[in-house]
Amino acid sequence: MKLVIGKHAGFCFGVRRAAEEAYRCLDAGIACVTLGPLIHNPQEVERLRQAGIASVDSPAQVGSGETLILRSHGVAPEIYEEARERGIPVIDATCPHVAAIHRLVREYSGNQGAVIIVGEADHPEVKAIAGWAGSAVFIFNEPEQVREANLPGRALVVAQTTIRRERFESVLEEIRQRVPDLTVKNTICAATSQRQEEAEELSAMADVMIVVGGHNSSNTNKLYETCRQRCRRSYLIETADEIPSEAIHETDTVALTAGASTPQWLLGQVADRLNALFP
Ligand code: SF4
Repeated sequence: MKLVIGKHAGFCFGVRRAAEEAYRCLDAGIACVTLGPLIHNPQEVERLRQAGIASVDSPAQVGSGETLILRSHGVAPEIYEEARERGIPVIDATCPHVAAIHRLVREYSGNQGAVIIVGEADHPEVKAIAGWAGSAVFIFNEPEQVREANLPGRALVVAQTTIRRERFESVLEEIRQRVPDLTVKNTICAATSQRQEEAEELSAMADVMIVVGGHNSSNTNKLYETCRQRCRRSYLIETADEIPSEAIHETDTVALTAGASTPQWLLGQVADRLNALFP
């Protein structure tokens, strides 16, 4: 068995930064909680919980003396206001790329323009961007949704940072036909594009493709979809215990990649287990 590990597999810059902030708080003895799970990875969230960092659903649940860590996905402006009103100290780990989208949509909507977000309406990052975009905001994840909407003549388009390029382009094509005065900002993160392109290359040459990451992670699932289109034997696993060993042969080339929310230690465990199973 030949094992190839993607160079871009695992934590992206924004997620690593958020995790480092959380561990820095622990080291400094600061009592803190995160607003929502810090990372879309159950194993890392559990690791944080055991280390003493729990997650809450709203600023109202933050205990006295606790600091609130905002995750890389970012939050809507109301959350900052609520934390301020309640006197809760905040550590803002919003990814700088996401914060730049917040500024972009706030500025555009301030000039009376509508904002169109291409992405998943229920994803926390998209919800937060919508929160900064004011009232004239549209969210589309499929070209059909664009056809059914009553769109204005002028709008700004931004993308969820982790959306697949092909999906963004197909939705955008539809929007272009409907909105004459359109400003397009492709805000797909470079970390996402690199990971997707690398996954395309790896899955095209591998016999078995393994994507490591949370089943609840949007970017991990998109990575898996990309791999499955090119490699029939693609698997999405969360931990080394889920390695589909019965589906792997000793002569296979196995490629490993991981979502932006997958910690390096989990990826390492999967690689070690594969090497132990197929020395
Ligand atoms: S995918 Fe990109 S934008 Fe999103 S958190 Fe990671 S580095 Fe930031």
